[in-house]
Amino acid sequence: MHYHLFPRKKPNLLSLIIPCYNEEEVLDILKKRLKEIIPKFQIKTEIILINDGSSDMTIVGLMQWAKEDPNVRVISLARNFGHQIAVTAGMDHARGDAVVVMDADLQDPPEIILEMLKKYEEGYDVIYGQRLARSGESVFKKITAWAFYRLMKILVHKDLPLDSGDFRLISRRCLDALNGLRENHRFLRGMNAWIGFPQAPVYYNRDARVAGETKYPLQKMLKLAMNAAVSFSPLPLRFSLGLGIVVAVIGFAVGVYALFRAFQHFILEMPIVYNPGWATIVTLICLIGGSILISIGILGEYVARIFEESKGRPLYVVEFTEGMTTKTKSKKLSR
Ligand code: UDP
Ligand code: MG
Repeated sequence: MHYHLFPRKKPNLLSLIIPCYNEEEVLDILKKRLKEIIPKFQIKTEIILINDGSSDMTIVGLMQWAKEDPNVRVISLARNFGHQIAVTAGMDHARGDAVVVMDADLQDPPEIILEMLKKYEEGYDVIYGQRLARSGESVFKKITAWAFYRLMKILVHKDLPLDSGDFRLISRRCLDALNGLRENHRFLRGMNAWIGFPQAPVYYNRDARVAGETKYPLQKMLKLAMNAAVSFSPLPLRFSLGLGIVVAVIGFAVGVYALFRAFQHFILEMPIVYNPGWATIVTLICLIGGSILISIGILGEYVARIFEESKGRPLYVVEFTEGMTTKTKSKKLSR
């Protein structure tokens, strides 16, 4: 896509948003790496760490960090709300003219932020990290991720960049728009593509996790994929309509054939063996029953989302914050 870019100056304040869920092993490494890189940005930088209901010592480490460094802010959520919501909480509390969302495990190398800032100055509003390679991840993860991104591009938005996660820099005006979208089932990358504004990639090699294990098991990945598919697109509903049409056509053809055979047997009294036809009946019942259930299931997913939205609940509950100014604290944020 072609954008007209308006160059601008560096952000006065940059916010790094880092969700942490059971990341006690990586915190020290993260702290050290950020301490090295942040001075190179040559802009004031705040670090917003979200404790997403960790059950290990993560929160202790985060509080300690906030005590040592006045630019560190901690938001502790009341339970594990999941990565996308944790990032949302960070975005709500960020005060920067630009924010960067990154993982705690340093799979998103913070050095890349320098390149992102350059693009920001060129006038881009969203600069997303696009992965060239993934080291240290299983073949299974690589294959599922590959399939995930291709499928999502079809289902979510044509502008959804391939092989890009949530590692990105977002300008204030784009972030304000994003913060205005309060849907419960969040797929931030898709929402970001929907908003628009000039977007550009920066390419990087995705390193292996520095310590600990992935907090995104297959089950969570499937949930995210489901959210992305169903929250963004009526395509699954159309799929069930298409399935219904195919099954109906097959049913109609089989019906015509059965009538024709019965006609031959009873009316023309032709000497043909009239097939009792149980196989046909069983097949048809399975086919029709199965496709009805699939369709109801898909429909149910949409109804469930309407149900969730209609409750009007906040997206998350904050247990406490550390290092936040009272101004951001009292702002009505969660919905
Ligand atoms: N995360 C989170 N809540 C969750 C799961 C993950 O805040 O329920 C955080 C996690 O601490 C990390 C980031 O999201 O900073 C990405 O998670 P992870 O590295 O485990 O995912 P992967 O890179 O394996 O896809
Ligand atoms: Mg990771």
